[in-house]
Amino acid sequence: MNDYPRIYLSSPHIGESERRYVQEAFDTNWVAPLGPNVDRFEEEFARYVGTKHAAALSSGTAAIHLALELAGVGAGDEVICSSLTFVASVNPIRYVGANPVLVDSEPDSWNICPELLKEFLARRAEVNRIPKALVLVHLYGQSANIEPIMALANEYGIVVIEDAAEALGATYKERSPGSFGKAGVFSFNGNKIITTSGGGMLVSDDESLIKHARKLATQARDPAPYYEHSEVGYNYRMSNVLAGIGRGQLEVIEDRVAARRAVFQRYTDELSDLPMSFQPEASWGRHTRWLTCLTLDEPEHQPEDVRQYLERTNIEARPVWKPMHLQPLYAGCEMVGGSVCQRLFSRGLCLPSGSNMTAEEQTRVIVALREFFERD
Ligand SMILES: *Cc1c(COP(=O)(O)O)cnc(C)c1O
Repeated sequence: MNDYPRIYLSSPHIGESERRYVQEAFDTNWVAPLGPNVDRFEEEFARYVGTKHAAALSSGTAAIHLALELAGVGAGDEVICSSLTFVASVNPIRYVGANPVLVDSEPDSWNICPELLKEFLARRAEVNRIPKALVLVHLYGQSANIEPIMALANEYGIVVIEDAAEALGATYKERSPGSFGKAGVFSFNGNKIITTSGGGMLVSDDESLIKHARKLATQARDPAPYYEHSEVGYNYRMSNVLAGIGRGQLEVIEDRVAARRAVFQRYTDELSDLPMSFQPEASWGRHTRWLTCLTLDEPEHQPEDVRQYLERTNIEARPVWKPMHLQPLYAGCEMVGGSVCQRLFSRGLCLPSGSNMTAEEQTRVIVALREFFERD
C-alpha cells in the first residue's frame, strides 16, 4: 500500500545484558520454569518496587488471578474495579467466580475516582453489602490516587490488589504503585515498558502470600516425596530463559521511563496548538508516559478518523480502552457513574510511544497529525 516502515504503538526495546543472561540459562542448562535467573529477577524486581517479596509468573493476568484467589475471593463475592481498563484486569474476577462492580474514572488521572468510590461504599454500608476486594488499576503509566483509596479500603475492610501492569516506573509520593495493597501485579507483555516477551510479577510484603503463590503456580504440589496435592494449582511460573530477558530489561528501566517521557514532551511541545488535550500528570507522582494519550477537543474530530489517517502512512495509533461496562461481556455489571470514562473512550487516542522510537519516526507522527488537522 505504501512503503513507509511501520511505526508501532509500543514495541520491545532490548538492551545490552538480556542476551548474556539468556546465554547463561542455555550454558547452565537451566531451560526450565525455575532457576537462577528467576530467583535473581524476583529479588531485583522486589528491590526496585520496594516490596519484600516477588513471584515471577507467566503473565500479569495469572498474577491477578492468583492474588484474588489468595485474598480469599470466591464464588458470589463482589470485586470493585475501574471500568476504564484492559479486560485482563477484570477477567480474573470471573475466573474465581466473583462479580465485578465497575467504577468511573476521575479526570485528573483517568484512574478510579475516589469520590465516587466513597459514595458507593457509604451506600453499600447502609445495606451491609461491602465488596470483598478492589482491583486498583494504574493506567497508562500513571498511579491512581492511592492514599484516599487505601484509607477507604482500610475503613471498610476491603482487600486491595494493585494492577500496576502498565505502571512500572511510576511513583506515588516517591513510592512505586503495586507496593501499597495486599499484593501488586506487573506485566512484561511485549508492549509494556519492559518485556520478557510475555510474563508477569506478583509482589507483596507478605512472605507467606508469595510462597503460596509460587506453590499454586507450580500445580500446587505439596512437600512430599511423591506427587501429592491438596488444592487446585496452575501452571503459571515464568521460564528461567525469559527471566533472563527480564533481568536485562530491569537494568534499564529508568532509561526507558526517561525516553518515554521525552517522547511525550516532544509531542506536547510541537502539538500544543492543535485542538487536543494530553492526559494530565497528577500532582502525586511520576507518570512514566508508557503511552502518550490524548483526547480530541472538537466534536467534529473523531479519534477513529485520526487513527485511520495515521494508518495510511503505516503509523499505529490505538483507541483508549473501551470501558468494561460498555463491553458485551460485562454489560450486566453494576456501574458507578460512567460519564468520565465514556468521554475518554469516545474522544481518546494513544499515540506511538516506544522508548526506541527515532526522532525521524516521531517527526512522521507529528507531521501526519498536523496534516490531519490542517486538511479542513
Ligand atoms: C497488560 C495488562 C494486564 C495483563 O497483563 P498480561 O501480562 O498481558 O497478562 C493487566 N492489566 C492491565 C491494565 C494491562 O495493561
